[in-house]
Amino acid sequence: MTTASEAAALAPGGEARSGFSFTVGRRIDDRLGRTGRIDTPHGPIDTPGFVVVGTKATVKAVLPESIAAVGAQAVLANAYHLFLQPGPDIVDAAGGLGQFMNWPGPTFTDSGGFQVMSLGVGFKKVLAMDAAGVADDEVIAEGSTRLAHVDDDGVTFVSHLNGDRHRFTPEVSMRIQHQLGADVMFAFDELTTLKNTRAYQESSVDRTHAWAIRCLAEHRRLTAEREHKPYQALFGVVQGAQYEDLRRAAAGGLAALEVDGQSFDGYGIGGALEKENLGTICGWVSESLPEDKPRHLLGISEPEDLFAGVAAGADTFDCVNPSRVARNGAIYTADGRYNVTTAACRRAFTPLEEGCGCYTCTHYTRAYLHHLFKAKEMLASTLATIHNEWFTVRLVDSIRASIAEGAFADYRTEYLGRYLSGRR
Ligand SMILES: [Zn+2]
Repeated sequence: MTTASEAAALAPGGEARSGFSFTVGRRIDDRLGRTGRIDTPHGPIDTPGFVVVGTKATVKAVLPESIAAVGAQAVLANAYHLFLQPGPDIVDAAGGLGQFMNWPGPTFTDSGGFQVMSLGVGFKKVLAMDAAGVADDEVIAEGSTRLAHVDDDGVTFVSHLNGDRHRFTPEVSMRIQHQLGADVMFAFDELTTLKNTRAYQESSVDRTHAWAIRCLAEHRRLTAEREHKPYQALFGVVQGAQYEDLRRAAAGGLAALEVDGQSFDGYGIGGALEKENLGTICGWVSESLPEDKPRHLLGISEPEDLFAGVAAGADTFDCVNPSRVARNGAIYTADGRYNVTTAACRRAFTPLEEGCGCYTCTHYTRAYLHHLFKAKEMLASTLATIHNEWFTVRLVDSIRASIAEGAFADYRTEYLGRYLSGRR
């Protein structure tokens, strides 16, 4: 253990309000990656660690007990969805997100900005995307209607549920996230896509920085106002798309920010990331951030992306993908991904993955899951989700163990050699 940083949150009286801290453990030779430990009021997170996504205060189709059993250390919910339904006041009155959903461990909420601004362009929900080569600030996905409009003060958007008009600003996002009560919150940022022009990316980074200042000020005010509640950490979000100068400037700017003694407790790395440059971009950002604060890479779960992110200094990850694709029958294994609905699985009386220790693989066969999917039984989603979340959580756990043993580079080569050659 080499460095430790207590939460920079200062109560109005000037005393540090403890409960959130980050400790760096072992580093990867010649790389930015490291092991570490985040302590929160609801327990620790060993890093690198994968945070399971429960968008609407539920990991779809599975009980919290199953999420604990796959080894998940934390759950991330979405401020936009919980704002619309059931409303943050309900979650607050229930005692906060963890209490409401019966998850005793650490919780995260994202700011809502990503979902709100995705309404603006209608692009797919996983952040790593392929660059399309066209730059146009007005482009929207085919078949989509623009449902969100961004200005310097915030975003006006139309609910995807009932068409109601709402407005998010940095202050509104902070109020919602304080009511939701997660241990880790994210500052409200503007999401751009790889299709935006360079000029737009520049102005967007400036806007996100200005919003970060407002988030810190409102966070400080709410922390003082709600001092009877457990401390909630706030992470600033680094944007800047694929541009090195913008990413470094954005990260350095957020790292230096302090509003009345309040600085960020950690950082999120967000926005448009070309898959092939993910490690490079993450590395620029990590180099420009303080070493003693945690870094969360938003929206990543493919094995090759997790290794690249860890090597480039990311400590935690989240992604909805393992559970989303599970509901369509896609199964992750160390030999690649396959679909259990294919005819080859109809008479396969073997586990989803040979040797897997998850509940699904120790009790059921591919043939049974094949049947459940074909019969459109709800249990199909439950069992497939348990396996995929186990796979992803345990993969990141094994990466952490490889760093602790000083064997990250060899493990990465070996693991990805097998995974990528077996990918179907
Ligand atoms: Zn399994």
